[in-house]
Amino acid sequence: MLELNNSNYFSLEADQHYMSNSQYKDFVECEARAMEKLTGSWKEPPSEALLLGSYVHAWAEGTLDEFKTNNPELFTKKGELYAQYKHADKMIETLAKDPFIMFLLQGEKEKIITAEFAGAVWKAKLDVRNEEGERIVDLKTVRDIRGKHWDKELGCYVSFVEAYGYLRQMALYAELERIYYGHSHFYETYIVAVSKEDPPDKEVIGMDQHRMEEELAEIERRMPRVLEVKSGNAEPKRCENCRYCRETKKVTKVVHYMDLLA
Ligand SMILES: [Zn+2]
Repeated sequence: MLELNNSNYFSLEADQHYMSNSQYKDFVECEARAMEKLTGSWKEPPSEALLLGSYVHAWAEGTLDEFKTNNPELFTKKGELYAQYKHADKMIETLAKDPFIMFLLQGEKEKIITAEFAGAVWKAKLDVRNEEGERIVDLKTVRDIRGKHWDKELGCYVSFVEAYGYLRQMALYAELERIYYGHSHFYETYIVAVSKEDPPDKEVIGMDQHRMEEELAEIERRMPRVLEVKSGNAEPKRCENCRYCRETKKVTKVVHYMDLLA
């Protein structure tokens, strides 16, 4: 098995060897796109939201100066931070002046773990792991913390936590952490969220064990198919909705207008 470190954690090779939360999400959303990404023949275009998230994470890890040096695209030609990253500084300030949040952000940062679960070996990077407090914390930058997101399958509005699959991610991280360190119970699991609003909002979000167990059961149900596709033993299905599918789409049949929102 490939030994993981900070420089190869996000590499193609690491993704080919290991399963991860984001790779699992890729497979569930669009198998065709997931496979193209794994062979390196297709990449998600760089996103400003992702860079902003990394900026705030770098601060939490204590490596913001290094991050700025490695990402010159944060700066204008005059050497000033672009407005959105100046705003990221405001988000950081919001977190930094909250004693409860700063307490929760204490611990080991960006800890890489690997563990076997649901028929695969997974990799995960824990934003914060606090052994003494028996907790893991994930930092999320979001548009707004109390925004409503329509869930097509449930037919109701859900929070960003559900909409972006963060319950699944946290359940998975708690389980992988439990297996990796060999304890019998989950560590306490929290999301520290900070919004991009001006002024930024913030919240510490908790979740219940019952829902976490449901999320894990769902992963276990879906993993046989994911592994079949990943190993090349099943043909990947196209979702016909994502960016990759739109870029490579060929129309082969007529769609009834009633099916457009299905
Ligand atoms: Zn697709």
